[in-house]
Amino acid sequence: MTLMENSMDYRNVKGRIFNIQKYSVHDGPGVRTIVFLKGCRLRCRWCCNPESQEYKIQEMMVGGKVKTVGEDTTAGEVMDDVLKDMPYFRRSEGGLTLSGGECLCQPEFSEALLKIAKDYGISTAIESTAFASFDVISKILPHLDYYLMDIKHINSEKHKEFTTQPNELILENAKKIADYKGTKLIVRVPVIPTFNDTEAEIEEIAKFAVSLGTVDEIHLLPYHRMGQDKYKGLGREYKMGDIYTPSKEKMEKLKRVASRVGLKAQIGG
Ligand code: SF4
Repeated sequence: MTLMENSMDYRNVKGRIFNIQKYSVHDGPGVRTIVFLKGCRLRCRWCCNPESQEYKIQEMMVGGKVKTVGEDTTAGEVMDDVLKDMPYFRRSEGGLTLSGGECLCQPEFSEALLKIAKDYGISTAIESTAFASFDVISKILPHLDYYLMDIKHINSEKHKEFTTQPNELILENAKKIADYKGTKLIVRVPVIPTFNDTEAEIEEIAKFAVSLGTVDEIHLLPYHRMGQDKYKGLGREYKMGDIYTPSKEKMEKLKRVASRVGLKAQIGG
C-alpha cells in the first residue's frame, strides 16, 4: 500500500476547528503549525481561548464585527494546508501541534491528523490536559512525538475550584503517558496568581513530574490577560478580576524551584 493510500481513510475523518496558526515557535520544538480544535471539558478561569471551550460553532464580536468561530472540515483538508509548511518543518525540526480546546474531545479527528502527519514524516505534538479516558489517549500515542501536558495543580479540590474538574484522572493519565515509550512527555504549568504561583505549589508539581520517572523538562507559562476581550465578545464575564501577569523576578524564582527539584525548567513554551 502506498503512503497516499495508507492515509486515504484518515483523510475523510471529519472534525471541527477554529484556527490554524503558522510559524509558531512556542508550542513544541522548531517551527510548528498549530491546529486549534473546538471543545474542552474544563472551564479554567484564566483560559485565553474561551471560544475553544464549546464544541458548537459560535459567534463572537471582534473589533465591532461578528466573527463565526468554528468550521467543519476533514483531516485531509487540514493536512493539505499543514503540508505546505514542510520546508519550515524540515529546516527547524518542527512539525504539527494540535491545540484547542482539548484535542482529546475529538479523538478520531486528532488521531487522523496525527497519523497523516506521521505518514509524511512530520513531527507531531499535542497540547492537552489529558482529561479523558486512557483508552482515548492510547489511540493517539502511537502517532505522537511530544505530549505537552498541562499539570495545573496537585490539590484536586483547588483544581476543581478553578477549572471545574478534579485532577485525579489527569494525574493517573500522566503516569501512563510517562510510561509510554516513543512519546516524550513535557510538563507545562500555567502559572496563575492566587491559584498555583507559590513556591510550594510549583515545587509540588515539579516533584510530581520527577516522580513520573521519564520527565526531565517543565515549562512555566506566565498568566496573561490577552484573552480578556474574547470573553466580552462572547458575552461572558471575565473572572480573573484584577489579577495580572506574574513579574519576571517571580517567574525566575519559580524556575529555580523547579530546577532544584531536578528538571530542566524554562519560562514560556
Ligand atoms: S484546559 Fe485549556 S482550553 Fe480547556 S478551559 Fe482550560 S485553558 Fe481553556
